[in-house]
This record gives sequence, C-alpha cells and structure tokens, in this order.
Amino acid sequence: MPLIELFRSEPFKTCTMCQKAWTTREDFMSDRSLIYKGYIADFEKLEEGLFLFLHDNEECYTTMAVKVGLFFDLYRGDRFTTRMHNSAECGGYCLNRESIALCPVKCECAFVRDIITTINTRRR
Ligand SMILES: [Zn+2]
Repeated sequence: MPLIELFRSEPFKTCTMCQKAWTTREDFMSDRSLIYKGYIADFEKLEEGLFLFLHDNEECYTTMAVKVGLFFDLYRGDRFTTRMHNSAECGGYCLNRESIALCPVKCECAFVRDIITTINTRRR
C-alpha cells in the first residue's frame, strides 16, 4: 500500500443512497446487510472489474459497485498468467454476472472467482 493511502481519511466505501460509510474493507466485508450480487468482469484490466453488493437494511435497498482490484490481496495463491477466456476450456463463468462458481481452468482470470468465494464465506 502506498504511504499516501495510510493518511487518507476517506472510508473504504460509502453507500451511494443512504450514505452509510464503511471505514475499512473489514467493516464492509463483515456487514451482513451487504449481500453479494455479482461480478462484472473487465477483461482489459482485471482490477477494474466490479463486484456488486446490495445494501439491504430497513432504510436502504440499493446496489453498489466496488472495484475488484480492492480485493485482490485476499487471494494468496499463485496466479496464472495465461488468459484462457474464450478458449475451448473456458466455462464462461466470468461472463455470468451472478455465478459464484469456482473456475477450474488455469486462467489469469480464475483467481477472482476464489475471491468471490472468500467474500461470501467471510460474511456468513
Ligand atoms: Zn445504503
């Protein structure tokens, strides 16, 4: 993390509708009023892809997007460097916004699916 980030006072995420702020990613990930809704892949720049979360509590019912790059460090394993998207092996999971399936293909994009699992497991 660059030093400048440490001094930033902005919260990790603020709800666009009710303005609730989550100070850290940990706050965000452990909040049960946030429901994981999907992944919009960016095949040009993987880190620019979006995770969608529904803020569902008594005052709010809105979907917000968070850049997937903000979650990349949750994956500790080895990352493949070959892009297998659109190959014969590709099951197209990254194109299915709602899919939370893990990807068995040795593909550059596959680790994002592990992160989806981590996010959903952490919240339970
Ligand atoms: Zn909200």
